[in-house]
Amino acid sequence: MTKKVTKKAAKKAPAKRAAKKAPGQRELSARGREAMFAALAAADPEPRGELNYTNTYTLLVAVVLSAQATDKGVNKATEGLFARVSSPAEMLELGEEGLIAHIRTIGLYRSKARNVMGLSRLLIERHGGEVPRGAAELEALPGVGRKTASVVRNVAFGEETVAVDTHVFRVCNRTGLVRGGNVRVVEDLLVERVPAGYRRGAHHWLILHGRYVCRARRPLCGECVIKRWCLYDAKEV
Ligand code: SF4
Repeated sequence: MTKKVTKKAAKKAPAKRAAKKAPGQRELSARGREAMFAALAAADPEPRGELNYTNTYTLLVAVVLSAQATDKGVNKATEGLFARVSSPAEMLELGEEGLIAHIRTIGLYRSKARNVMGLSRLLIERHGGEVPRGAAELEALPGVGRKTASVVRNVAFGEETVAVDTHVFRVCNRTGLVRGGNVRVVEDLLVERVPAGYRRGAHHWLILHGRYVCRARRPLCGECVIKRWCLYDAKEV
């Protein structure tokens, strides 16, 4: 006798299957997320980025210069630059060639120099020489994308933004903190799910963790403070 499948049961079946995720697809529970951030915060109560800057304008310039470059390399180049320049007007005075003389050790320095001159000009024309706080205004500046705007809004203005770079993307997907196929999905999930109280520091904790512990190759699971909650199948414990 064939079993009659009601419309209701047929609708329910796929949902039940979807809920049972493969090991590599599991995500942390709200309690797990809370515990993971508590452990990261206990290990580094006041996380901060590694780019050097002297004010909000030089922070913006440093972040623009850091695309596809190391913070260390950018700091080396900006040491002399920021001793001389601290405002858009001073940058325009220095000029593009003058700027290039400082940053030629950084990858893509020509296009970055063009962007820094362009954004400095626009800051004067549209914002009285100040760095705006809004995402739309920031992203309208040359060389400033969503990630750069998020970093500046977080670091300079205390906004609870989470910029997702390659490190944050890897840590989230590996640990199951949140899972997403691209940086925008991961960012939206983080904004939604990072527990209150940890939103301001989340960006730094995740970047530093990815850079120094949960490295792309050979993650240092043995000395990882969040290994207890990490769902990475290949973690070494
Ligand atoms: S346990 Fe290993 S894989 Fe998991 S977060 Fe820590 S370093 Fe990364």
